[in-house]
Amino acid sequence: MKKITILLPAYNEEASIALIEQNMAQVMRDNPGYDWEFLLVNDGSTDRTLQQMIRLHRDDPAHYSYVDLSRNYGKEIAMMAGFDYATGDALIIMDADMQHPIDVIPEMLRYWQEGYDDVYAQRQGSNESWLKRKTSQWYYRLLQSLTNIPIQQDTGDFRLLDRSCIEALKRMREVERNTKGMYSWIGFRKKGIFYRQRERRQGTSKWSLMSLVNLALNGITSYTTAPLRLASILGLLVSAAAFIYLIYIIVVTNLYGEPVQGYPTIMVTLLFLGGVQLLSLGIVGEYLGRVFNEVKRRPGYFINSYNGNRNDASSHAQATEAES
Ligand code: UDP
Ligand code: MG
Repeated sequence: MKKITILLPAYNEEASIALIEQNMAQVMRDNPGYDWEFLLVNDGSTDRTLQQMIRLHRDDPAHYSYVDLSRNYGKEIAMMAGFDYATGDALIIMDADMQHPIDVIPEMLRYWQEGYDDVYAQRQGSNESWLKRKTSQWYYRLLQSLTNIPIQQDTGDFRLLDRSCIEALKRMREVERNTKGMYSWIGFRKKGIFYRQRERRQGTSKWSLMSLVNLALNGITSYTTAPLRLASILGLLVSAAAFIYLIYIIVVTNLYGEPVQGYPTIMVTLLFLGGVQLLSLGIVGEYLGRVFNEVKRRPGYFINSYNGNRNDASSHAQATEAES
């Protein structure tokens, strides 16, 4: 019997645990032909999420396992830990708040059996605000224009990954992660299906505007070096313009003598150049920061405990880097 792991990264999701329990029981009833593993990753929750996970594992150790991270690392790293500890032949990533409906799982499994390695779920008719939808649309378009690897729009982490994809992702040990870009990067046979996102029923969303901005910038800088090129092109254009202007000034000065006015021109040029320099410096800094964080070669995370079916887990607990 094929084993499927459902990965549920959770940060302060105490209130969703009951819902998870119901949903996972339903998944088992709906898909009896598979062996199920429900892998919960506690991402440094400050509420009683961990205690609830421990209880789930105690009540049903055959199906529930959990990894307790040493602090809050963010969802990307929590998923990375999930990839490391998943034991299934395939992995389905879902949000712990159960915004992802379990009724598309049979469809995912069907396509997987047909030979697809990455069955990703695309959001349809989302009930998010117009602004949020539009900005995400623009963002995808921008990202896509910067790279020639196809990017799936309106697609998040809700997807089924074959073991081949998991093994590929496990070898990508960068700590500044943009997992969405990685799914595209690794390739393999992909298939999109549609789903309707549910309202969050318990707890609160963990994303603030600032964290979305951070995610967006990280998404670009971890995915492509195109902005560095932008800095060079901008510099080139400005230099060219400045050079033409220089010739113009020399000619005009020689023909008509030197007028004393010119304060506005100087001001504008100064400010413009200053702006371009800061922008370029900022872009370089973004990448330098990234390099700084990666060259330290730290493991992506540490864990307090793991309880589950992965047998070589104890040796793995401290040094996740050994994988690379
Ligand atoms: N999450 C996490 N670590 C974090 C923030 C979020 O593991 O630091 C998990 C969270 O528990 C949930 C998923 O990531 O399972 C998505 O988070 P959320 O529902 O807050 O995001 P939204 O659905 O609003 O995009
Ligand atoms: Mg959510």
